Amino acid sequence: MNKNLIRNLAIIAHVDHGKTTLVDGMLKQSGIFHEKQVVEERVMDRNDLERERGITIMAKNTAVQYSQYKLNIVDTPGHADFGGEVERIVQMVDGVLLLVDAFEGPMPQTRFVLRKALEAGLAPIVVINKIDRLHARPKEVVDEVLDLFIELEASDAQLEFPVIYTNARTGTATLEPDTPGTDLKPLFDMIVENIPAPAGDPQAPLQLGVTLIDYDPYLGRQAIGRIHNGIIQVKEEVAVLKAGGETQRQRVTGLFVFSGLKKIPVEKATTGDIVVVTGLLDINVGNTIADLENPVPLSFVSIDEPTMAVA
Ligand code: GDP
Repeated sequence: MNKNLIRNLAIIAHVDHGKTTLVDGMLKQSGIFHEKQVVEERVMDRNDLERERGITIMAKNTAVQYSQYKLNIVDTPGHADFGGEVERIVQMVDGVLLLVDAFEGPMPQTRFVLRKALEAGLAPIVVINKIDRLHARPKEVVDEVLDLFIELEASDAQLEFPVIYTNARTGTATLEPDTPGTDLKPLFDMIVENIPAPAGDPQAPLQLGVTLIDYDPYLGRQAIGRIHNGIIQVKEEVAVLKAGGETQRQRVTGLFVFSGLKKIPVEKATTGDIVVVTGLLDINVGNTIADLENPVPLSFVSIDEPTMAVA
């Protein structure tokens, strides 16, 4: 897939501000803005969605199709973490949505993740949700968000954040809180226009930074991360670069990309995409999956590796 058609983003939100509902809304409208396509065929019904969510509730990634674009959405823990997960997530994406309740305003728990995103140089899009709430005060909440950015020493560019207002329950977004929206198209457009396409060189030797580890009873350990450079293919041999400089020669047995809440098997994937790699024993977060001939580690934030590998 052409990396110019990929957008990798994370969502930062305080619990209950509507992250799950918004992602559900984006999934339901996934693909419907394709020209000349029958809407009904593309929209997952509620049962499908619930069923899939039941299966993949631990999979923290979702991919949504908007027009010809693929949006990889990565979840972020809403609390301070000690394993460096937030740092790795902000390195995996090129933008973030900061989702804030239009009545409650920013909450302390979102500060930590926002700070990491700002430090990583990401320019957030501010999403004011629940504008339908009684006593919602969207404009004031935007001012409070601005104060928070100032307090966290955001750069001038970051301070010029775009703002969008949503009702995640009805799946609508608008640029003006007084004018109701009709769908999430304005949000999709804002994402595509404001979040840069992933950098990296598809011709360069493979470098894939492992950000998350998932476990599947059939497929075993799954390494999830972004392809920073090059391409990865199923059945190919790769170098797994561990913390401390150890290199292991291993074979990729399975490769998946995200589609909705599912993981779809693919033969190969290229720079910019977020993928799931199976077959690598003993793989851990912070490792680099690299080209066998040209193994160059990515400079990840240092993390403590678990002393014993699970599975
Ligand atoms: P999360 O914890 O951030 O994932 O929040 P949820 O998506 O689970 O939403 C928390 C609650 O807020 C649920 O009861 C949602 O139905 C409700 N909610 C989410 N978005 C909206 C909205 O735009 N308007 C209103 N009124 N309620 C919302």
